[in-house]
Amino acid sequence: MRIYDQENRTELVGIICNKCGKKISVTKGVPQEDSLHIEKSWGYFSQKDGIRDSFDVCEECYEKWVADFAEPVLSEENVELI
Ligand SMILES: [Zn+2]
Repeated sequence: MRIYDQENRTELVGIICNKCGKKISVTKGVPQEDSLHIEKSWGYFSQKDGIRDSFDVCEECYEKWVADFAEPVLSEENVELI
């Protein structure tokens, strides 16, 4: 869950892991720990057509979540292009 400042609602001020409730601090709009942010707009062939879901998961919860997958996550090293 992403928390934005009360005044103009544009600056990210905090992230809370939707799974475990862990607070990830944000300094000057920059999260101090990496996490997974997902946004999904459900479409026509879904029971949730027209609904937009979003959530955040900390790295520890992400690791536990994907460990349950029947097929492993495709994991590759990022290569920076010159
Ligand atoms: Zn978590």
